[in-house]
Amino acid sequence: MRYANVDGVRAEAQPKVRGVCRSCGGEVISKCGAHVVWHWSHRSLTNCDHWWEAETEWHRRWKDRFHESWQEVILRDELSGEKHIADVRTGHGVVVEFQRSTIEPAEVAAREQFYQRMVWVIDGSKNEFDCVNFSNSRSGVNENAMARFRWSGRSKLFQRWHSTKPVFIDFGEDHGFWRICRFDPKSKEGVALLVDRDMFAAALIGAETDFSSGGGPASTF
Ligand SMILES: [Zn+2]
Repeated sequence: MRYANVDGVRAEAQPKVRGVCRSCGGEVISKCGAHVVWHWSHRSLTNCDHWWEAETEWHRRWKDRFHESWQEVILRDELSGEKHIADVRTGHGVVVEFQRSTIEPAEVAAREQFYQRMVWVIDGSKNEFDCVNFSNSRSGVNENAMARFRWSGRSKLFQRWHSTKPVFIDFGEDHGFWRICRFDPKSKEGVALLVDRDMFAAALIGAETDFSSGGGPASTF
């Protein structure tokens, strides 16, 4: 995690400091090596948020597009007491999950159920073949910045993110940032919208949209 409480104050990790997890209250230790993104790590294996994944530069670059107070927001279900840490929750109540590691469809569904108003931003550049395969499998963009594609890659990237909430895949600087508007797992055909990263963040910050209109890739053609 990026933030923990140190002497009761929300703080980023600094070398050789201990803090308290803002979610579970457990002790956390700063990890500030030369080859890792500086972060806080639980001192002992805990029952803290099992949805949390180790952060990379990719996560931090995205989170930094949003105000600090919107990052790592702890949300609690009043009925069940279940607690999770949203990567970003805008002041307008939209959760943005930046996901790099693969998660099972059941967990995707559980997170969507928990967060309700949310969008996914997936790191599609984790696998360089996915970037190239996507560029090769799509048409050029039309006047509305839309492209059709037929997924020919071996990975299950699109099958895995066959979600009901809006899904954006970041294929890196060379291959673009795309909203996956539709995807049919049987035919492997889909429709994607080329999106400007700055405009995406600005739209969420300004509450111009929560991107719920049109739904996710699983919405019907
Ligand atoms: Zn914790």
